[in-house]
Parts: sequence; C-alpha cells; structure tokens
Amino acid sequence: MKNILCKNCGGSMILDASATTAVCKYCGSTYVLNHEDTDYYKQFYKRMRSFFTLSKDEQARRLKADELWETAEDKKFECPDGKDIEVRYLYSHKDPAADSYTARRNIIYHFEEKNADCVEKFRKAISMLDYPSADTKSLSDFFPHINGGFELEGGERLLVITKGEDEYPLRLFGTLSGRHVAWIISRLENLCCVLEYNGLAHADLNIDSIYINPYDHTAFLYGNWWNAGKHNTHTRGIFLDVADNLVNLRKIAKELLGFKADEKVIPDGDNIPQALADFINGSPKVNAYEDFAYWDEMLIKAFGERKFINMDTEDGEIYK
Ligand SMILES: [Zn+2]
Repeated sequence: MKNILCKNCGGSMILDASATTAVCKYCGSTYVLNHEDTDYYKQFYKRMRSFFTLSKDEQARRLKADELWETAEDKKFECPDGKDIEVRYLYSHKDPAADSYTARRNIIYHFEEKNADCVEKFRKAISMLDYPSADTKSLSDFFPHINGGFELEGGERLLVITKGEDEYPLRLFGTLSGRHVAWIISRLENLCCVLEYNGLAHADLNIDSIYINPYDHTAFLYGNWWNAGKHNTHTRGIFLDVADNLVNLRKIAKELLGFKADEKVIPDGDNIPQALADFINGSPKVNAYEDFAYWDEMLIKAFGERKFINMDTEDGEIYK
C-alpha cells in the first residue's frame, strides 16, 4: 500500500477510516487528501474487505494474498557489523515511540535510540500476561509472541513479533458495516477480559494496535505494548487505568463505523441498529467481564441470535 508522508517530519501518516484525512501521529500534522488519494485508499480498503467473503478454498486465498503482496515495499536496516536486515512490508506506520512494518509473517517495530527502552517495556508488559488455566493455549494466540530483537547502527533497535499470514492491520480495512464491527467488538471484549484478568491497562488499544484475520473473524492485540502496564501505575508518563481498555474499545468501534472517536454513533437502520449505537455511545460496565455480558445482550438486541459464520457468508447474512 502506498504511504502518505508527513510534509513536516517525513513520517508515514495514518488515514482515517473514511480515507479523507491523514494524521501524523508523530508530530500531529493533519492533511486533507486529494480526490486521487481518497479514491486510491477507498479502492484499497474495498480490496481488503473482499477478503471477508472469500471462500474456504486455500488456493484462492493464497492467490489473493500474493496479489496483495505485489504492492509491498522494501526497507533496509543497518546493523553495527555492516550487514543489512531487509524487510518486505505491506504497511508501515509511525507512532511517537516506534515505526512499525507489517511483513507477511512478522510485525517489525523500529525504535530510535531515544526510545530503545520501549523494547524492554514491551517484553516486560507481555511477560505479565497470564491466562485462566483452561484457556492458556488458545488465548495466548491473540497476544504478541516475540520472535527476536536486533541492535542496529547508532543504538537503534528492532523488535520482531510473530504474526499469521492471514492477519492484517485493522487499519487496512477502512470503514466497516455494523455486522463486521459487531464481531470485532466481540473479539475485543474477549481480549479486554484477558487484560482485566491480569490487571493490565494497554493504554494504546486502538485501530493501529489491532490485527484481524478476515477469514475466521479473529482479532489480535499485537501492537504498542510499550505503554502497557499494571492498573494504577504510571508508564512513560501515562497513568494506567484498566477501565480505559473498555473506553478505547468503544472508540475503535466508532472509528470503524466512520465516526470520530469523540462523536456519537448515529443509528442507521439494519446497518447500525439502535442497540449497537447505544452500546458504543454508552459507558462501559464496571469491569470487562460484566461489559462482555452486557455486550452479548446488546448484540442479540441489535442483530438477533448469532448464526454459525461460514467463511463464504455474505456480509448481510452473518447475523440475522
Ligand atoms: Zn509529522
């Protein structure tokens, strides 16, 4: 995917879900896209969303993914011994603490020397993750596994996270229909329960830290763990409150539906039923477990009983 670079600092900018404005998370500059760019990104989002309705056929999927990777770019990092590390990535974005590069089976975080301590903060935060014993295996799949780290020339650092081939940054899908946002909320509620269980506040739970697998409707909290930590503590100047996880979950849902994080979601017929809007606009329950139970009620009110989701199910048939 082509990057829009910040005219002020040169960093890659983040697009809003409706592909009209780009924001630099690094220096705060904003930029209104021209029609050509808007059309390009809308087309790109549409292409990504077509993955949602792709059949179970492994070959068709591979073909589609291969096509997508033809648009990948290369980036070289220099090691102190003069060797280079080459990364082929589909998407990159600049966060105040790190640049991230989404490669086919990895996510690579690149830290400048002044942010090198974020590597240890990332490792430490995920080492605090524990799972209710019965679920250890499956739940840990949705959180980062560190594949390796590299020291670069000039004290810069790389941190490499494992990811599945079919897992893509949530940001790449643009705005989504209410039904798709609904399954994403379900997965995020699940992730928030794990955070709650561990007394962890993530602080950067947002569209850029979430990856999804569009085929099997799963979501992963891979990104930005350097700002995560125990409830009621400070990290990197941020006060950590576990309740913010559920507030941020709602902001993600708003943005995915095409609203701004500080706007109220307006109900829209079958696409955004009243109960879905009420859930997103309302306050979170006292903890993630209660919030998840509340979401389950609202989900049924919004879309009725959940049906088995077939891989090749059309959008409108996911919830009936
Ligand atoms: Zn900038």
